[in-house]
Amino acid sequence: MYNDQSWFLKRAQMAPSRLACVDIDSGKQWTYAQFARLIEQWAQRLSDENLQQGDRVAVLAANHPELLAILFACGLKGYIYVPLNFRLSPHELADILANCEPSILITDDSYGSMASSLMVKKVLKRELLITSTPCLFNTDDIRCVSVDEPWMMIYTGGTTGKPKGVLLSYDNVNWNAMNTIVSWGLSEKDCTVNYMPLFHTGGLNALSIPILMAGGTVVIGHRFDAEEALTEILKRKATISLFVPTMYQLMTQTETFRTNDFPDVRVFLSGGAPCPVTIYEKFDTKGLPFKEGYGLTEAGPNNFVIDVEVAKVKRGSVGKSMQFVDTLIVSDNHQPVSIGEVGELWIRGRHVFKGYWRNANETAATMANEWLKTGDLARIDEAGDTYIVGRKKDMIVTGGENVYPQEIEHCLLMHRTVREAAVIGLPDGKWGEVVTAFVSMSDAANFEENLLTDHCRQFLGGYKIPKKFVVLPELPKTHVGKIDKKQLSALNVV
Ligand code: ATP
Repeated sequence: MYNDQSWFLKRAQMAPSRLACVDIDSGKQWTYAQFARLIEQWAQRLSDENLQQGDRVAVLAANHPELLAILFACGLKGYIYVPLNFRLSPHELADILANCEPSILITDDSYGSMASSLMVKKVLKRELLITSTPCLFNTDDIRCVSVDEPWMMIYTGGTTGKPKGVLLSYDNVNWNAMNTIVSWGLSEKDCTVNYMPLFHTGGLNALSIPILMAGGTVVIGHRFDAEEALTEILKRKATISLFVPTMYQLMTQTETFRTNDFPDVRVFLSGGAPCPVTIYEKFDTKGLPFKEGYGLTEAGPNNFVIDVEVAKVKRGSVGKSMQFVDTLIVSDNHQPVSIGEVGELWIRGRHVFKGYWRNANETAATMANEWLKTGDLARIDEAGDTYIVGRKKDMIVTGGENVYPQEIEHCLLMHRTVREAAVIGLPDGKWGEVVTAFVSMSDAANFEENLLTDHCRQFLGGYKIPKKFVVLPELPKTHVGKIDKKQLSALNVV
């Protein structure tokens, strides 16, 4: 059996004095050697609780580098790390805890009172770890487990339904990281400023773990603020960072964005949701490198790679599959589609998850042999570059025609008065579904539906033009910052 859980400790032996992690709020920093020690202390602390291999260690805490130390500590002992979304209500959290049954819940000052109100066997405060006491942990205490055993369980964003516990094994996490390092060219020179929540795969697996595996630096922010994020990118000389499009929307409106050139950044990455062309334009105008990635909790999340120069020309493309990822686009009867045709994106690779926690039916419905059926629609162009077209569940069928909301949303966002756009199909006796656009506007008082209809007519076929527009001050978001179409569908706008 390999011992693939202890790579951080080995990395620390290779380059002990390199900077591993920084906490923005307190300014505290850890070298690789110091962080390795913190990991060992946590491993010791957790094993003092008499946990067994496979026990769940849940975490309800604000973003902090120490959460990464707890994750690696769980790895050393074979416990399953379960980060919880602190934006959920106590009721939603109770549901998740009842589902994952942790042996221990680790919390912090910010979420301590919420954590104590939840029914769990034991609650432990992160701040209670006394770092000055000698740590008795030694490498013989590492519990060697199979690379196929689960290391973490991340609950999905719940954009399309109830959150599901995605089990990721050591192999899954490590292959995503290695694949990201080789395909995106990460190295010890890389530094990321991370405001993505560490309970989400975007904050954890997209960059933080790959960068630590490569020996680089992960700078962690607690609460996203557009000005602060850009200032930190400058101050820390960050080379690569990932944000969701709603964060970029806010960042591009700041003074710091307008007045700086960000010379150290080799790429700004967007992911998690479709990125409006208007954001590409703002980066292009300033000559800043910008591109999009596509991912999901169940696979990596990283799956594609695109060159920055290609991304400039092919806005919205996520490029080609990464070195150790296979992708396939299939029709409804599971046959590969031709170039340009839209079908469901399937993914295969050692980073693909092991199944949902205690949900064999959902797991079976999501897999086709070793292929993961992503539930997302995509197409490929002649050069082999992939475009994500939208979620299969979101596709609208109106008068027998298939309509992909993302295409209409991108078109609406090209209009200078539209700040946010989401398109859904609402049930209709005549058309089956009617294309309905929800928008927030920069000048809602002077909203004229005709202007937007005329604008759409320039770019879209008649059946795609929204028949109904609903203006809201702001569109509702999910807990990870994506536009919440479930809430929009529930609004009674008919
Ligand atoms: P749930 O599975 O619970 O409904 P979720 O789908 O939001 O929640 P995540 O794993 O957080 O769960 O997000 C993955 C999804 O995000 C993908 O399946 C895809 O729909 C969307 N996504 C990610 N990157 C992109 C992108 N670049 N363009 C379009 N959509 C994207």
